[in-house]
Amino acid sequence: MNSMNIKKGDKVKVLSGKDKGKEGTVLRSFPQKQRVAVEKVNMIKKALRPTQQNPQGGISTMEAPIHVSNVMLVCPACKQATRVSKRVNDEGKKVRVCKKCGKDID
Ligand SMILES: [Zn+2]
Repeated sequence: MNSMNIKKGDKVKVLSGKDKGKEGTVLRSFPQKQRVAVEKVNMIKKALRPTQQNPQGGISTMEAPIHVSNVMLVCPACKQATRVSKRVNDEGKKVRVCKKCGKDID
């Protein structure tokens, strides 16, 4: 089961860990690993190899992916962190539905 209810571009709230309570946008998703990288969440330092432009190398920070169970979708309609259900809409497409306000999310 590789499908996740969270997709790239979603706004999510972090439920646990050092960034608990933060909200951010999903930058990348990794369905096989059930992980997502969220803007400004779980930042790690990464050593940069020296290049011709930057012979010293250096350190940059980047978002490390976190498990999708540690985040909850923030509904674009009601702005609450929510679980989602799914329904098939009039065009036969599966859409996510906010369990708080009942609006379609996709
Ligand atoms: Zn909602």
